[in-house]
Amino acid sequence: QDGFELAVPTGEDMQRLGRNLASCVHGGDVILLSGPLGAGKTTLAQGLGSGLGVDGPVVSPTFTIARELHGHLSDDSPVTLIHVDAYRLGGQDYLPGEDAVDRLLDELESLGLDEELEDPGQSTIILMEWGEQMASALADQRLEVTISRPVDAREDPDAPPSSEGQRMVRLRGV
Ligand code: ADP
Ligand code: MG
Repeated sequence: QDGFELAVPTGEDMQRLGRNLASCVHGGDVILLSGPLGAGKTTLAQGLGSGLGVDGPVVSPTFTIARELHGHLSDDSPVTLIHVDAYRLGGQDYLPGEDAVDRLLDELESLGLDEELEDPGQSTIILMEWGEQMASALADQRLEVTISRPVDAREDPDAPPSSEGQRMVRLRGV
């Protein structure tokens, strides 16, 4: 009921998980990716994009808020992957809280994406990094993917956030 958790040893494994996810997602799905900076959210997104055969690289949309990519589902029907990054909600451009969510929604509205977010069409998949901050504004039915790094005594606590090391991935709502 609370989903399941997977150990993901390397970045390549995280990409593979994303590719596998591509074969089980459906049009209209909303996927919220959570986890700290360098957890592997964009890496998972790259795998998903590759599994959907999208028409461009999946890069972090941090400075563009959202990017649309075109690919195909496992049944070969066309799908638009909307890759959103809500990072700025917690960053210096936005103050966290209700107001920040409103401002991001305004921005998404100006991109014509607000309705898709509330009720994605059957040929759209929404994938949102830092999605936990936006949860209240999104469709109830969604897949939540939370990535964390297990505390490892051997690991240098001052290591950069994107260094090698196992991640734990919890999937809910599959
Ligand atoms: P985020 O989008 O969460 O900020 P990224 O996916 O951009 O994180 O960066 C994660 C970095 O960590 C990548 O350089 C990736 O290769 C690396 N990495 C190392 N080990 C793992 C792992 N087990 N899972 C995911 N990424 C990993
Ligand atoms: Mg990212």
